[in-house]
Amino acid sequence: MSEKPVDLDGDLPPTGAYDTPETVVVQTTRVSCDGGGPGLGHPRVWLQIPLDRGWVECGYCDKRFVLDENADVH
Ligand SMILES: [Zn+2]
Repeated sequence: MSEKPVDLDGDLPPTGAYDTPETVVVQTTRVSCDGGGPGLGHPRVWLQIPLDRGWVECGYCDKRFVLDENADVH
C-alpha cells in the first residue's frame, strides 16, 4: 500500500494552462505552416527564416519556427 507522491510544489505547469506559442525546430529556412491538423489552423503559408535572425513566426497562429543551429544552410 503506497500512495503516489503528489507534487504539491507544482513546479511543472499543467499542459495547456498557458497560451504559449508552439516552437518548432526546423532544418531549412523555408517552412510552411497550416496551423495544425485537419479542421484546425489556417490556410497554408510559406515562411522564410532570415539567416541573421534564425527564426520566424507564423502570422496566423504565432507558431515559431527556429532554425536548427546545426542545419546545413548556406
Ligand atoms: Zn501557422
